[in-house]
Amino acid sequence: MIPRAPRPEQRKLRRVTLDIVPELPEVETIARGLAQRVTGDVIESVWLGSKPEPLKSPARLIAETLENSRISSVHRQGKHIVIELERDGSRRRKPRLKAKATTKDRAQWIVHLGMTGQLLVTSPDADLAKHTHAVAKLASGRELRFVDPRRFGRLCVVTGEQFEAGGAEPLDVDLETFIRLFRGRKTPIKSALLNQKLLRGVGNIYADEALFRAGIRPRRRASTITRAQFEKLYRSVQQVLKEAIEAGGSSVNDYVDSNGDPGSFQFQHRVYGREGEPCLVCRTPVKRVVIAGRSSHYCPKCQK
Ligand SMILES: [Zn+2]
Repeated sequence: MIPRAPRPEQRKLRRVTLDIVPELPEVETIARGLAQRVTGDVIESVWLGSKPEPLKSPARLIAETLENSRISSVHRQGKHIVIELERDGSRRRKPRLKAKATTKDRAQWIVHLGMTGQLLVTSPDADLAKHTHAVAKLASGRELRFVDPRRFGRLCVVTGEQFEAGGAEPLDVDLETFIRLFRGRKTPIKSALLNQKLLRGVGNIYADEALFRAGIRPRRRASTITRAQFEKLYRSVQQVLKEAIEAGGSSVNDYVDSNGDPGSFQFQHRVYGREGEPCLVCRTPVKRVVIAGRSSHYCPKCQK
């Protein structure tokens, strides 16, 4: 039986670690929460802040695309939240005379939370948080707000094509493709796992957790990993992500879900953030090393 790892006081300490960003399970949790709350609603109007960094598409294009669009679904791609929009020609403010009123245009509103981004569904009279960069007024009377103090988050719209985040989706990729992504690379396996062009959505926490379960040291060169170890790593990556999604993501961050509720992230880390604490399998103190500027945690005895 593996004991529960983080105690409340440790959790509090880790909150200030800037290393921690929302990863795939947290984004999945947020996207599912949003889907439940805003699917079917219509964006009536949009306010965008004056800070340029969060807007990856021109402000005018974002506003034009969002306004009078119906949210048909919300899902996750890698670490991006994809809000599918349906624009009924007849709902547009200034319909062109010759436009077919029945043609439904499709577009996508893409949100990347960066390090500190939040998407909040609020009542219109809720206090406007400092660092609010976008507010979408919904036909239901609520507002969908994008708040991001550190401004690494990004908003953009995609029209006329489908958004493609790049990299393979870790929960969909098959074993052979997974092995092909990493085999023969001279970089540490940890860096390769974090490379979003290979696998999208796996970040620091879940890379450490997956490597621990697979028994592979983070600094190990990908090219030295055997096929059997890759098979184990493949299963570990999927297992860790699925467990974390089930738990609602990690308990170590200060972002909240779309209810504005910070409480539901319960995933238990076995090595991440446990430097000096005993390994949950062999009691050897967990080690921390820095690889490509990021903290990596591993058990020197269980991982080779
Ligand atoms: Zn150990």
